[in-house]
Amino acid sequence: MNSRYEVVIGLEVHVQLTTRTKIFCGCSTAFGQPPNSQTCPVCLGLPGALPVLNRQVVEYAIRAGLATNCRIAPRSIFARKNYFYPDLPKGYQISQFELPICEHGWLNIETEENGPKKIGITRIHMEEDAGKLLHSDGNSSSVDLNRACTPLLEVVSEPDMRSAEEAIAYLKQLHQIVVYLGVCDGNLEEGSFRCDANVSIRPRGQQQLGTRAELKNLNSFRFIKQAIEYEVERQIDVIEDGGQVVQETRLFDADSGVTRAMRGKEEAHDYRYFPDPDLVPLVVTDEWIEQVRGGLPELPAVKLQRYQEQMGLPAYDAGVLSAEREVAEYFDALVARHGNAKLCSNWVMGEVLRSLKEKEIAVADCPVSPELLAGVLQRIDDNTISGKIAKTVFEEIWQTGKTADQVIAEKGLKQVTDSGAIEAILDEVIAANQGQFDELKAGKDKLIGFFVGQVMKASKGKANPVMVNQLIQKKISK
Ligand code: ADP
Ligand code: MG
Ligand code: ZN
Repeated sequence: MNSRYEVVIGLEVHVQLTTRTKIFCGCSTAFGQPPNSQTCPVCLGLPGALPVLNRQVVEYAIRAGLATNCRIAPRSIFARKNYFYPDLPKGYQISQFELPICEHGWLNIETEENGPKKIGITRIHMEEDAGKLLHSDGNSSSVDLNRACTPLLEVVSEPDMRSAEEAIAYLKQLHQIVVYLGVCDGNLEEGSFRCDANVSIRPRGQQQLGTRAELKNLNSFRFIKQAIEYEVERQIDVIEDGGQVVQETRLFDADSGVTRAMRGKEEAHDYRYFPDPDLVPLVVTDEWIEQVRGGLPELPAVKLQRYQEQMGLPAYDAGVLSAEREVAEYFDALVARHGNAKLCSNWVMGEVLRSLKEKEIAVADCPVSPELLAGVLQRIDDNTISGKIAKTVFEEIWQTGKTADQVIAEKGLKQVTDSGAIEAILDEVIAANQGQFDELKAGKDKLIGFFVGQVMKASKGKANPVMVNQLIQKKISK
């Protein structure tokens, strides 16, 4: 990239909310139903039908606002955004314009090249989605209004990002937060989390912002990065060739990796916003805000820090364990029962996540609950079983749902810590491998591993390995 230019990026993200019903009527929001089967006079935009605000939508907006450090407006209003398109039956979209519910927020992002950085969030407002056009053949199109009136949050950032990498870091963090909060399913491909990227460049040192292009049709993090990078190069070329960037909307074409002009500023809409007379101003009391705040989960960034600073876990472990809420909650529940955080972390990142992935099971449905796993770790700690046998016990619990103690007793897996018994096995092993034992005695130290292995094998993994080692040392020095 040409270093004489600075990249400026501001993002608008549409977050589809997971409420059961739509924002202004009682119709279901379920995905994939027969066309127009989830509609009523309100979401069909029939004259005279009146919208009624879904309280859950407001609560989700407050959650998102609090989690992104926004100020929650005590009073906000809904506005009509007027434009014509066949997927919009009323001829206007109910949105918020002046007085949105959340403003002045921020998120801290971290990138490899620049370290930590604060990204401003201008506003978060509530709005309804439009329907979907179905183009079946060349002659006619149909419209499916199941999606009309589905609740959305629009999260608008300040133009604070300076590279595609920063934009992705911001988006991933925002995505993680709304999924953690349970307000969005986070599915980019299905359009539950959609991003428009505003991109401009300016000569380094210039204060004034350059003219931006707005990129649309970005349905994966990879495409967003690709589209921004392509667009930056394109704008630099335009300017270097003596031209000017024009303000326009551009569509990203994933197949060719380029952005193409869709509509220019001349065609930009005048939305003629005005307050919707059908909806009273929304009043959010301090009590309501505090009640929502009280119900927020611990956020991923806070967990990440707590795992490192209070539990002393490595950054890598903390990152894996905090990335998904269900994993973090499993881990928290385990640590609450078994204090050794690093041992818990190893088991969650190892056996638990690996087995779940292998069997394609969700964490919430893990057959070995944190309680049951804590029972296994307890028996490792008190030397009843070795870490290796513990894996067998884990498998058996997975299959049967029994406790560690039941499995250990039934399968006779208790570790042998009787030094007489171990010594007897060791003597047999030595007798069968006298030649190697003589070499070991003569100084070939690496044969220790061989003897430990043989004893473990002969005891079916049950001999306490530390004791086996000590006994071998004793025999050598005799
Ligand atoms: P609109 O609603 O027409 O898209 P806004 O003023 O609300 O316009 O800006 C939308 C987004 O564009 C915001 O995220 C903002 O940060 C970003 N933005 C505004 N100007 C620029 C610019 N010159 N370069 C990059 N991003 C910009
Ligand atoms: Mg825009
Ligand atoms: Zn409806």
